[in-house]
Order: sequence, then C-alpha cells, then structure tokens
Amino acid sequence: MPSNPTQLTSQLKREQALADLERISAQWQADSDVFTQVSRKMATTLDLRTLLAIFAEEMLPHVAFDRVVYNHTVEGMPIHISIGKGGNHRCEYRLNLEGACYGDLRIFRRHRFAEQELRFIEQLLSIAIHPIRNAIRFETVQRAALTDVVTGIPNKRAFEDALEREASLGNRHGDSCALILCDLDHFKSINDTFGHKAGDDILRAVALSLQDATRTSDLVYRIGGEEFAIILPRVNSKEAIVVADRIRKTIETISIETASGKAKVTSSAGVAIRATGEPADPWFCRADKALYNAKNEGRNCTRQALPGLDSDVTPIRGGRRS
Ligand code: GH3
Ligand code: MG
Ligand code: MG
Repeated sequence: MPSNPTQLTSQLKREQALADLERISAQWQADSDVFTQVSRKMATTLDLRTLLAIFAEEMLPHVAFDRVVYNHTVEGMPIHISIGKGGNHRCEYRLNLEGACYGDLRIFRRHRFAEQELRFIEQLLSIAIHPIRNAIRFETVQRAALTDVVTGIPNKRAFEDALEREASLGNRHGDSCALILCDLDHFKSINDTFGHKAGDDILRAVALSLQDATRTSDLVYRIGGEEFAIILPRVNSKEAIVVADRIRKTIETISIETASGKAKVTSSAGVAIRATGEPADPWFCRADKALYNAKNEGRNCTRQALPGLDSDVTPIRGGRRS
C-alpha cells in the first residue's frame, strides 16, 4: 500500500487507466459492426484472392450477389479473379487510391442493385481498397523479383522454380517435358563491334522471337547474360527438335540497325527431354552439356542429349560439324 496521499492518488489513477484499457479492448473484441469486421479480417492477409473472398463473404449477408470479378495488370501480367457464377445486372468500380489504380471490381446478380445497396458496397470498398492496395504492391514486388529488367521476360530465379515444378509434376503425371537452352554465339564481339545498347536491343529482339516461335503453354526465360531457356510441357523429343531449330532460324533473321551497320546474331541450342523420374538438376545439366557440344561443334546448331545418358549427344540439323 502507498504510504502517502500523493502516492495513493497516482496509484488510483493508474488503476483507472488500466480499467479503461480493459473496457476498450473488450468493446473492440465484441464489436460486430460489419465495417470493423471486414477491416480486421482483411488485415490478416496479403493474398489478393483471399482478400476478395473475405470481401465477398462479408458482403453476402447484406447485399445478395451471384459473382464478383476482379481484373488488374501487374508488371504487364493480367490478374483475373472470379468468385461465384452468373448474373446479368452489374455494378462496377475502378479502385483508385491516392492517384493510383488498383484494379477494376464488378459485382453481378440477376436483379438491379438498390441505391442503399450501392452505398453499402461503396462503404465496404472504401475499407477494402487499403488491403487490396497492399496486396497489389506485394504482388508487384514479387513479380519484379522474378522478371528480367532488360527483356521483361521471367528471369533465372523464375526458371529454377519452374524447372523444379515441372520435374515434380512430371514425376506425378509421367508427362514428357522438353528443356531447350539457347546461347547467343560470339555475343561479346557483337557488343564490342556495335556497342552495349545494340547488344541490349538484340537481347530484347531475341526474347520476343522466342515467345513468337513457341506456344503460349511454353515458358521462356532469360537465365544469364545471353542465355535463354525454354520449358516445353508435354512435348516429345521430335517436337522439341523442331521447335529448337525454328528458334535458331528465327534468331538468325534478327537484324538491328546501328550507326556501325546491321547487327546480326546466331545461336546454339541444347535440348534435353526429361527422363522418367529425373530431378531438375541432372535434367538441366544434360541440356547444358548438349549446348556445350553445339558450341564445340561449330555454333549456330542444335544438339540433343539422349534421355538419362549425359554423354550421348545426337547431332541435329544446322551448323558446321567439326
Ligand atoms: P559463345 O559463342 O562461346 O557463347 O561466345 P560469347 O561471346 O557469346 O560468350 P561469352 O561468355 O564470352 O560472352 C558473353 C557476353 O555477353 C559478354 C557480355 O558482354 C555479354 N552480355 C552479358 N549480359 C549482357 C547484357 O545484359 N547486355 C549486353 N549488351 N551484353 C551482355
Ligand atoms: Mg554466348
Ligand atoms: Mg553464355
């Protein structure tokens, strides 16, 4: 117990302050107003799909709807999230905050929205837009970390993740999958002759032609200075060779105008079909060895590693043989 009145007063004040805090906490816990609830729930995640699911779940008891659709583009890649089905009437919002756009949201249902319902949705969105903005920023940083700055295509880190994924998916489904490694020939001398900027222009043109020469299901990566990788799911050996050669010929047609004349480039490629049960690392090493052979055997050609036999490499069309 405090020994004098001053000490007693300050202890009472402190106890009062603590009791106030407890009351405030209890009030907050018990608070069931929908806006507080949605704000609390949405603060728990940075995953956009989960955020929109929370938004839809919190809206449903107050405004019936059939479908919520969200669209946005992050780092040049579209994001499309759809929850539910149907509905021919819709209300739509552009999610703008502090001068930036964080996507478009459409809510569909079979009958018109009342004014009161639209006001409620807008209030809910004025809360939801902050966590949605945070999730978009998080997504932007994540995508940037997986994108090559010169060409805008996925980088080495993205490639390593994808190769691991393909290897384990293949292990489960037994699907065939091809890996093509493609390295530009004598690229150092292109930089030396035409300058680094022309070199960068060629890298961008190569990235574009790789995407043009492959199907949308094929994945194209820049995995080193002048080295690219293409993963071709459900593609067999014969088809992979056709694609690799098509790529090689497309690269041959690239021509960049520079002050010192036309800059042209050729490439060498190594192809490896994943052997049954083969992990990502040895699969990559076989493709790399095939590429090494293509370089050794005159460049501007494609070589293929036979499945699982990393010393056995077959010559394919194009290029000089040594
Ligand atoms: P090889 O036919 O044996 O592959 O010869 P190379 O000259 O292509 O290979 P090397 O490994 O000797 O040189 C690669 C060159 O790629 C060196 C570097 O100047 C260039 N390079 C790497 N990254 C970039 C880049 O981002 N932009 C440009 N312009 N050049 C790059
Ligand atoms: Mg090279
Ligand atoms: Mg190289």
